[in-house]
Amino acid sequence: MPRLSPQATEELQIAQELLQQVQLADAHDTRQNPLITMTGTFSAALLYKLLKSGQQQDDRAKFIWGSHAAQRVQFFTWHLLNNRIQCKENLFKKKITSNSTCEVSSQGTETAAHIMLECPFAKVFSELIKVQTDNITSAPDIHKLPRPSYIPATHVNATLEEKE
Ligand SMILES: [Zn+2]
Repeated sequence: MPRLSPQATEELQIAQELLQQVQLADAHDTRQNPLITMTGTFSAALLYKLLKSGQQQDDRAKFIWGSHAAQRVQFFTWHLLNNRIQCKENLFKKKITSNSTCEVSSQGTETAAHIMLECPFAKVFSELIKVQTDNITSAPDIHKLPRPSYIPATHVNATLEEKE
């Protein structure tokens, strides 16, 4: 297979070794998936529960899944902190858009960090709402943004306190 990269060749060999151990039977397949309900449909609720059930949650997971924000906000934030939002950089990688330049500022690649932290528009917005972003440079660290001084700590703590 001359078109395979060395890594792909190695992965193909591993896959072929695994497939040699498989024996097919005439019986119906038994399929198991924790995200499929008894009726055989995909359940987003089960996915949320699975995401929230991790034994070892890092600070980001606690920030997102431990908050009282709406589930759609939690889900977006989870995507944001994992660089999975549909920014132009990701759309460009998927060949959905022909370039990855920020359309708001035309200054740099539109990454999650650019949208939230680096874009001049985002910087003006952060200044207006008095959120100090200078020490945060990447999307996975956005949960570390400091509390603006005009928001009482008790309000933030109540929003982020662990749900039961
Ligand atoms: Zn921009």
